[in-house]
Amino acid sequence: MSLVSAANLGLVGVGGPRPVDAPGRSPEELRALAEEAGRELEGAPALEIARWAAETFGDRFCVTSSMADAVLAHLVSRVAPGVDVVFLDTGLHFPETLRVRDEVARTLPVNVRSIRPRLTVGQQDGQYGPRLFNKSPDDCCQLRKVEPLERALAGYDAWAAGLRRDESPTRANTPVVGFDPRRGKVKVNPIAAWSQADVDAYVARWNVPVNALFAQGYGSIGCWPCTRRTAAGEDPRAGRWAMFEKTECGLHT
Ligand code: SF4
Repeated sequence: MSLVSAANLGLVGVGGPRPVDAPGRSPEELRALAEEAGRELEGAPALEIARWAAETFGDRFCVTSSMADAVLAHLVSRVAPGVDVVFLDTGLHFPETLRVRDEVARTLPVNVRSIRPRLTVGQQDGQYGPRLFNKSPDDCCQLRKVEPLERALAGYDAWAAGLRRDESPTRANTPVVGFDPRRGKVKVNPIAAWSQADVDAYVARWNVPVNALFAQGYGSIGCWPCTRRTAAGEDPRAGRWAMFEKTECGLHT
């Protein structure tokens, strides 16, 4: 079934806060909602979890995507056509990643919001010295991912991420619905219980866009300076920040 919609063709925003049209729920309400839903939806199909989020939060709900693949964006678009999909355009992505973003915007019934850091890469080099990612990747991620995400999420009560429990030990306890205390929002992880085989089956079933780098030996895809290929059988996330004791960028911790 085609999900192509003329309404979203070429819609790639340039960033900045989303206009807020209606007041949202308080953090206390959101925490209670998340705790109840997390219990009730554990074990539910991913589509049902996405539907609950779309119906509960309406346009105060968005999807975030690294554009490693378009599985989550596609899944949520089936129950919430027109949903906002936030992509953090760090300025240091592989061209293959940007191609997935553009294909998602062109072919799925979603509204891609491409959010940029406050500093260009050149401005960051000027303020902090060149290649901050080699000297202090935590600071680089804070400037190019964490702050932009927090800016992007203004105006939403809930966001969906594509975290899976089998991706790494740090993600083993990911709830299907939880409360993100740092941001005071509900965080929905519809595919938390999926395996890689489930992802592959979904991609094949719906023919959704996938980053071409997976076919070139990359197990997990982030910014080009901090991503390397992984060997067969190696932890897919071992290719991220391989020179550092770092496995997460700070978006999910
Ligand atoms: Fe910087 Fe690397 Fe983090 Fe990208 S992944 S923001 S290049 S440290």
